[in-house]
Amino acid sequence: MVHTPAHSGLSGALTYESDSALAPGTLVRVPLGSRELLGVVWGDAETRTSATGGSASTRATNAHHATAAQPSLLALDDPSHDNVAPAPLQLRAIASVLDGVAPLSAHWRQLVQFAARYYQRSAGEVALASLPSQLRDLSAEQWARRLKRKPKAAVANDAPVQAIPTPTDEQAQVLAEIAAQSGPFLLFGNTGSGKTEVYLRAAQALLERDPQAQILVMVPEINLTPQLEERFRARFAPQWGAGCLVAMHSSLTPAQRLNNWLAAHSGQARIVLGTRMAVFASMPHLQLIVVDEEHDPSYKQQEGARYSARDLAVYRGQLENAKVILGSATPSLESWHHSRPATEAEPAGRYMRLAMPSRVGQGALPLIRRVDMNRQPYKTVFSSHLLEAMRERVTRGEQILVLLNRRGYAPVLHCNDCGWKSECPHCSAYRVFHKLDRTLRCHHCGFTQAVPRACPGCGNLDISPLGRGTEQLEEHLAELLADVRRPDGEPIRIARIDADSTRLKGELERQLAEVHAGAVDVLVGTQMIAKGHDFRRVTLVAALNTDGALFSSDFRAPERLFSLLMQAAGRAGRDATMNLVSPCEMWVQSHHPQHPLFEALKQHDYPAFADQQLSERAQATLPPFSFQALVRAEARSQEAAQDFLNAARDAGAAFADELLVDLYPAVPMTIQRVANIERAQMLIECTSRQALQRFLAHWQADLHGLRSAHRQVIRWAVDVDPLAI
Ligand code: ADP
Ligand code: ZN
Ligand code: ZN
Repeated sequence: MVHTPAHSGLSGALTYESDSALAPGTLVRVPLGSRELLGVVWGDAETRTSATGGSASTRATNAHHATAAQPSLLALDDPSHDNVAPAPLQLRAIASVLDGVAPLSAHWRQLVQFAARYYQRSAGEVALASLPSQLRDLSAEQWARRLKRKPKAAVANDAPVQAIPTPTDEQAQVLAEIAAQSGPFLLFGNTGSGKTEVYLRAAQALLERDPQAQILVMVPEINLTPQLEERFRARFAPQWGAGCLVAMHSSLTPAQRLNNWLAAHSGQARIVLGTRMAVFASMPHLQLIVVDEEHDPSYKQQEGARYSARDLAVYRGQLENAKVILGSATPSLESWHHSRPATEAEPAGRYMRLAMPSRVGQGALPLIRRVDMNRQPYKTVFSSHLLEAMRERVTRGEQILVLLNRRGYAPVLHCNDCGWKSECPHCSAYRVFHKLDRTLRCHHCGFTQAVPRACPGCGNLDISPLGRGTEQLEEHLAELLADVRRPDGEPIRIARIDADSTRLKGELERQLAEVHAGAVDVLVGTQMIAKGHDFRRVTLVAALNTDGALFSSDFRAPERLFSLLMQAAGRAGRDATMNLVSPCEMWVQSHHPQHPLFEALKQHDYPAFADQQLSERAQATLPPFSFQALVRAEARSQEAAQDFLNAARDAGAAFADELLVDLYPAVPMTIQRVANIERAQMLIECTSRQALQRFLAHWQADLHGLRSAHRQVIRWAVDVDPLAI
């Protein structure tokens, strides 16, 4: 494994000799220094120029010397590493060709090239990150053995053949549009409107029509929706075999990942179901890309090449002439804007909006009830009405979700006498109190200590938790509902799902299965419980402590809150056949119940919310009405980090002016220090995407040039279209 510093630049392809002609896209092993690395033959004259910035020359000793396809190689090391010299003076020969793998397609290489350029990274880094690690790690002998292994005979599928539902009118209409138009489509479908069924149908139509066609289905976090994979398998395995679908996500073993990658690359797997990394899956016959819950922030990679898998999916669809369906009940404001209908003043956006407003089977959306917390006694956790409603429902055997987006027992521990607080010594943040294992844990750097017996400041024995997390909520609810019985007379069961309760592998799946099976009456959790689950018996959702996002300095905070609450509300009332005594409800406790966000939520009116937010953004020229990038720098001191950024700003100022790009002054990041490293950032903004791209491409050289004068800067990185500012 090669170390990859984040401050990479755009270094290009390396050149090697080969005594036979190699098709572009061929995987090879090449020597670099004393090591041997994986490489991809990058290519023909045209891509070579862009890959190398025109600097490297290529030469091949083969008979096809005169043809355009001379092998210039992309060595999949870390081409950005400072120590790697550009093209070696004396050309070295490639070590070997990786047998048995067809060359990567021109489309795939173009996707990688585009992503690298757009997100200001090197093509080698993007390519390496998107190929399974075993392609690189297996020795020649291991590889030969791997190739000999016969593909497992398709196991007979014992999944019961499920009845395929007849599409609803809305589904049928949407499917007809998808078949007739080229897209990209924004499938704006309510929670429970049957979006997944649309994906299944669209996929099925394609599989039946074209014996080679491949389909890529992306989901935000595969572990959160294990039923989805089941649903796809149950639908397609009976007809196309168990091997027709492979998964691609980070919890696969390296061997599984290689197998699945090869299955997709060879065309054998017809459906790839994966997380954001799957956008780079090599699929020679790709014809349909689905991005489920397209608004989800986890489509944005947060380290290395910070790509948006959703945006790359749209690019890839266009590149490969594949249809793209972005689906959500609460689309990102970007996608909503791109799918705007034509007005007198303006033509329509470039996405086609398809709406499915109704729930399948007349399941009603929950009634939204707002509780004014200003009228509740000080320190109320659950208002008395809410508590009463919860007790009644549990007694009738209905399920309840309680959403609190903060894990741990309490966010801070403090001393009333001297004012001591559980700050992290390494970060500008508090350590969170976890009562179960009696630790103070920093959620930023991981620093963990046992809870002190007495105040470290003054020795006071009475230190107390401030605020509330899911752990405390679970404990509190157990007390509040201790005397309540389920219809079968048993005591009720409360469970908690958050990053702490699901740390062990398989634990999340197990807990979710318990909720599905009805063994859990009240489920407490963070946003993990709001996403995509098809819990059948939930009739009440309660959201606590949501006010923080209303007044956040992050302009995307209201968008995230609204979608979280809509998604959470969507977990209720999914089974229209339940005979309910009273309709499903979602309760929102707030100190600002009249806030327009809650008004829109009450009406389940995403369009109203989106239009209001978009008009605010238009006035402030924020995305999607402008385009942004961030440069972040990390150093031992805040001053050093800011100095570097401000020097970069000076260096780029003239060109930025020319292109009407705004460079803002460097500022500390919200959490300024993490693990004793100071962090600063600088915002770059422009109303033209092209101009911003031109500026960034040019500016890279300035940033690299500044390194030597700013030795204290540990790393820096550019984030294009950042999600958190
Ligand atoms: P979404 O993805 O929009 O939340 P789903 O596709 O999960 O919605 O559908 C919600 C529920 O409705 C699922 O249990 C699904 O099996 C069921 N369903 C979807 N479409 C139909 C249909 N046409 N007829 C009957 N049931 C359907
Ligand atoms: Zn004290
Ligand atoms: Zn810390």
